[in-house]
Amino acid sequence: MNHLNYYRLPWNLTDNSISWLEPTAKCNLSCYGCYRKNEVDSHKTLEEIKSELAVFKKMRKSDGISIAGGDPLLHPDIIEIVKMVKADGQKPIINTNGIALTKELLTRLKKAGVYGFTFHIDSKQNRPGWKNKNELELNELRLYFAKMLKEAGNISCAFNSTVYEDTIHFIPQMLKWAEDNIDIVQVIVFILYRAVNNSLVDYYLGSQKIDMNELVYNEESEARVDMKAQEVVSVIRKMYPDFDPCAYLNGSEQPDDFKWLLTGRLGRHGKIYGYMGSKSMEIIQTFHHILFDKYLAYSSPKLTRKGRSMLLLGLFDGKLRKTLWKFLKNPLNIFKKLHYQSVMIIQPVDITTEGIQSMCDGCPDMTVWNGKLVWSCRMEEQLKYGHNLRTYFKNIPIVN
Ligand code: SF4
Repeated sequence: MNHLNYYRLPWNLTDNSISWLEPTAKCNLSCYGCYRKNEVDSHKTLEEIKSELAVFKKMRKSDGISIAGGDPLLHPDIIEIVKMVKADGQKPIINTNGIALTKELLTRLKKAGVYGFTFHIDSKQNRPGWKNKNELELNELRLYFAKMLKEAGNISCAFNSTVYEDTIHFIPQMLKWAEDNIDIVQVIVFILYRAVNNSLVDYYLGSQKIDMNELVYNEESEARVDMKAQEVVSVIRKMYPDFDPCAYLNGSEQPDDFKWLLTGRLGRHGKIYGYMGSKSMEIIQTFHHILFDKYLAYSSPKLTRKGRSMLLLGLFDGKLRKTLWKFLKNPLNIFKKLHYQSVMIIQPVDITTEGIQSMCDGCPDMTVWNGKLVWSCRMEEQLKYGHNLRTYFKNIPIVN
């Protein structure tokens, strides 16, 4: 896959699609791959949250705010927080494991203006009632939440799963499940597992070597912590040979790395007709910015079910034209709904061949700490050391 064949998403530090708000670090689960320490007494006050939103407003444009944590549904003022984000003109997206979500709470969140949910569900969460269930058995739980949102009406539904070496093979079938529920699942996200790799590099704060055992994401993991987005695409293509992304974010140190790799697919229950091309995504992002002065993050079900209208972009986009012909092979399809679904693959921090940490260039998950924007995936370093740590190879190779 040549990154130059895809659209480099225009998201950057000051003009992005999403920002990341952490009202609490408290959680009711302890997922294996989590990069945030579960802090029981960590609920932020509404004043603190207000000042963080003010930092976002001063420093950065974004379409949506991911309200994350810990698990934000555990925060006693979650309703008020959603109202504050909405009042700032941004789409409140709740990132949760769903355990605390009741129909009653969902009704109140909808009234407060929630735009969407991203449910974190995977097989390494030790989730009560779902222990030892594999990724496919967890589709039953995913369906429960997707139907819950459908019933509430017009709330964007996304699922994310951390992907490990021993779970990557489930991805094609998880995408099949998402295809079968394309009308009620708008986004599916696969996040590649990362943990500190003590065998390769040492971590420093200035000249001081840091014992990474002090940080939650130091797991001495036997599992690979360097899987790449292209590997996920290769696995997907075993079931979907035509699977083809349209846009990406590169690495801050590695230009041809796919740190965020976006695929847009169009289909109906149980059938994918084709994919969105880079030109269409460029047109959508550009026009959304012209109309709303910010790049597009999440679209509501009302918009994602307008797949037939999106096919008009086939005028500028060969890949979408192919989708159009495939869809119209049966002319009666013109009277049927066509749904758009996003598939996102996220490849967090990598160690480059120079031993440097490569982050997502244009990180959409920037959060606020001490009045400044920081990578949310490395918040533990900020909290513990006030800075991001640097890495150096254990045995820097001597280049003759
Ligand atoms: S740099 Fe970290 S926080 Fe930002 S998008 Fe990548 S993994 Fe997420």
